[in-house]
Amino acid sequence: MSSGRTHDRITLWTLPLVVVLAFRLTLNAWLTVWVCLGFLVGGWMFGPDLDIHSVQYKRWGWLRWIWLPYRSRIRHRSAWSHGPVIGTLIRVIYALLWLSLAGLVGIAVLNGLGQTAITWDALRAGLGEHLRLHWPRWLAMVAGLELGALSHYTADWVSSTWKRHRSGAKTSKTRSKGRSPKRSQKSSPKRSSASRYPVAKVNPAAKSGTEEKPGPTLVNPNDLPPQ
Ligand SMILES: [Zn+2]
Repeated sequence: MSSGRTHDRITLWTLPLVVVLAFRLTLNAWLTVWVCLGFLVGGWMFGPDLDIHSVQYKRWGWLRWIWLPYRSRIRHRSAWSHGPVIGTLIRVIYALLWLSLAGLVGIAVLNGLGQTAITWDALRAGLGEHLRLHWPRWLAMVAGLELGALSHYTADWVSSTWKRHRSGAKTSKTRSKGRSPKRSQKSSPKRSSASRYPVAKVNPAAKSGTEEKPGPTLVNPNDLPPQ
């Protein structure tokens, strides 16, 4: 897994590519700005690592607590946070739930204080009208968020694949190191001759020069010449 700072740098370095891609697809400067805004927010503070105590999580400042239920429910690097499309979708819905709650509480308080007189119907109609007029802007923003998250998933995947590859190479190196002395022992001529040919036992008497004289030889009488 890449560190938060590495993800930040990747987001910044890939921004020019996103600008070019977004402009080629939308042919609209403002939509390109919205895609880029979404990309930066998605990479820096709305990314998949909100499922842990990460740099992205800390960037929410005093509002970071809103991600605590998300963190407690979603396992780090699971498909629910690190899955393409589904990860962004869940975070967007989750953030919208909080936003709606804050909006409803705010309106209720203001209405209660007599500052406003917003009815639920007027609120629903206003939101519908806004979305009807500005949906391309919000779609561009969500696409940017997904692109920001995508750069994160890709960096995580490349980093873990590289680490797996390195640890695999290390293990095979250690194994071959552990085997080599055995092989050298086997191929050692000293060892092999010793194991194949037993060492001749030296007669202590011969060594000290007090070798016993051979006794009388027994001869077969049939072998004797006729007398
Ligand atoms: Zn991650």
